[in-house]
Amino acid sequence: MKPITQAIRTRVEQTKEMEQSSPLFLTSSFCYTDAETMRAVFADEIDANIYSRFSNPSVDEFIQRVCALETAETGYATASGMSAVFASFMALMKQGDHLLSCSSIFGSTHTVITKILPKYGIEHTYVSANATAAEWEAAIQSNTKMIYLETPTNPGLDILDLEMISNIAKKNNLLLNVDNCFATPIGQQPIKYGADLVIHSATKWMDGQGRVLGGIVVGKEKLIHEIYLFCRSTGPALSPFNAWVLSRSLETLDVRMERHASNALYIAQQLENHLKIASLKYPFLTSHPQYTIAKKQMYNGGGIVCFELKGGIEAGRNFLNNLKLLSLTANLGDTRTIASHPASTTHAKLSEAERQAVNITPGLIRISVGLEHKDDILEDILQALEKC
Ligand SMILES: *Cc1c(COP(=O)(O)O)cnc(C)c1O
Repeated sequence: MKPITQAIRTRVEQTKEMEQSSPLFLTSSFCYTDAETMRAVFADEIDANIYSRFSNPSVDEFIQRVCALETAETGYATASGMSAVFASFMALMKQGDHLLSCSSIFGSTHTVITKILPKYGIEHTYVSANATAAEWEAAIQSNTKMIYLETPTNPGLDILDLEMISNIAKKNNLLLNVDNCFATPIGQQPIKYGADLVIHSATKWMDGQGRVLGGIVVGKEKLIHEIYLFCRSTGPALSPFNAWVLSRSLETLDVRMERHASNALYIAQQLENHLKIASLKYPFLTSHPQYTIAKKQMYNGGGIVCFELKGGIEAGRNFLNNLKLLSLTANLGDTRTIASHPASTTHAKLSEAERQAVNITPGLIRISVGLEHKDDILEDILQALEKC
């Protein structure tokens, strides 16, 4: 079966009720018929569920569906994307290790790397999003353990070359851990390029309707087992209810992403030469600086479009204030189109220099293109641009 079919058909075993849709296992723990069975389960002699912090059938269904889409061996699902990121760091690195990453990275991940990991003696180096192979290699130290990256990056839409970086990781015996949240497995499969681990904030495109938080890390069995052991003791398990919602969402991920991406390409093309816009980025526009890499490793350009308003921070505020249809919210990857202005919101607490360091320019607008009619989305953006 093709991955899309598996993402629709893989399910928990049908119960004696013969239900068509998967049942929801909203239970914290599981029962045993007798003391001997219970002993054998706890001794790992029998493979059975124990407690939903360890495993749960509804959560397993979600994991198996994501594994099919990412062509991964196995996975562990977490309460949010950030708990997946954090668990992948804490389970696989220790005091004295070094993490190599890229300065264009999701804000909370940047906080974990720069403020939390140092408390545990794990240091890091950032290279820039357009670093060459030589620059990546030069940043490797004798204690480097892992390369962690995001592509396309949030919110700047930089594209990093998975094939190039994966070759460097292999050559130097480093783990390659990729946050694939923006592309989704429909848009890009990092494991095909040699990634050892792939992370998702399922909160975004996977749920796709702005309802539940969730996260997952999938990849090599040996590594996932370490992450599982870390999580089963520390407790960031995904709620079975959220897993059940997310599994239903995966059944439509392919068709949704196709439309998100075609709407986004249309919006990007229509706005590219707009008078109020200094520059615009979309991975599948020939004007994108890493267009060739995007075309090589992505099946579509994704649902996010970024542009820089000529009027800077004031223009950014005016743009948000004049939108009528688009939602102003911190999320992305929704059926409803969302606009955000990082400089005055998510990155407002950073100094101008810190914002520059992570490529947040004053007039940067990020549009998460939804599933409304493309002309309604465009019309709202155009009328708000008139007032900037
Ligand atoms: C949102 C996001 C995360 C964090 O996910 P949560 O589910 O919000 O914890 C991680 N990486 C990227 C690229 C994101 O956009």
